[in-house]
Amino acid sequence: MAQSSQIIDGKSISAKLLTKISEEVGLLDVKPVLAVILVGDNPASHVYVGNKIKACMKTGIQSVEHRLPATSTQDEIAKIILDLNQDAAINGILLQLPLPDGIDSDALIQMIAPQKDVDGLTIPNIGKLVAGLNGMVPCTPQGSIKLIKSLKEDLTGLHAVVIGRSLLFGKPMAQLLLAENCTVTTAHSKTHDLPKICRSADILVAAVGRPKMVKSDWVKAGAIVIDVGINRLENGKICGDVDFEDVLRVAGFVSPVPGGVGPMTIACLMANTLKAYYYYHNK
Ligand code: NAP
Repeated sequence: MAQSSQIIDGKSISAKLLTKISEEVGLLDVKPVLAVILVGDNPASHVYVGNKIKACMKTGIQSVEHRLPATSTQDEIAKIILDLNQDAAINGILLQLPLPDGIDSDALIQMIAPQKDVDGLTIPNIGKLVAGLNGMVPCTPQGSIKLIKSLKEDLTGLHAVVIGRSLLFGKPMAQLLLAENCTVTTAHSKTHDLPKICRSADILVAAVGRPKMVKSDWVKAGAIVIDVGINRLENGKICGDVDFEDVLRVAGFVSPVPGGVGPMTIACLMANTLKAYYYYHNK
């Protein structure tokens, strides 16, 4: 069915969130501080960290960078994390992923003090999310929920399908949708007849890492489609997991890549840093 779809403007929604955060930070005598650990030479990681530091500058949050060579050892990175855990001046710790081959990322993530874990990836924070308690919520799913709720405040009873079950995105996203009273289906690489399942979704979230996998005949007319994927094409351009132009013909709303979930992720990182600051100051 031909449908007049709308593009979800992640840039403007994230800009509003950043403005709100900067107004709050402006009222604080002592500013929140985010420590960023970047190991190695991954070009995409350097771009992401650069964007996160820019967002810190926009909001008045202070950033402290620890740039380490790709030859850094597990113990060297662990020592930095443990020192930052002890440093009362540091509110949030971000360990930029992926880490170089041979480094056990999971072990390092779990060393981050949960109250400074602005990525929400430590087991205590994941546990709080599942238990419905107040903790640090991972930035990308948090940003994706904010995009959906900017369109529709009450998601009760809607069928949400999340493609992808990673700890970084798919699993926390499913929990956040459950908390909004959606009926949630989590799909993955072993799911049978994925297009049919997707066609029953009022909210379809794709986080796979396969360029333009979701086509218009996977999408229910009028559905909200959130594209989390970031894929670099041979021509150097970035595209998502959703065939954007094709899906626009059917969906009600589609988030673009770039300009959808990406900027929301960064804004939510700032929100989590402020939350960590308030937690430390018992506010
Ligand atoms: P991941 O850990 O590689 O997980 C991918 C998921 O997709 C897995 O659960 C996998 O299933 C599933 N999958 C793979 N092939 C499939 C298929 N043919 N059909 C159905 N499911 C399939 O990736 P991730 O960390 O969740 O990230 C997913 C994408 O989001 C990537 O493109 C990443 O770059 C992007 N991302 C973007 C942001 C942002 O800020 N915008 C943040 C994080 C991630 P199995 O579990 O069965 O293997």
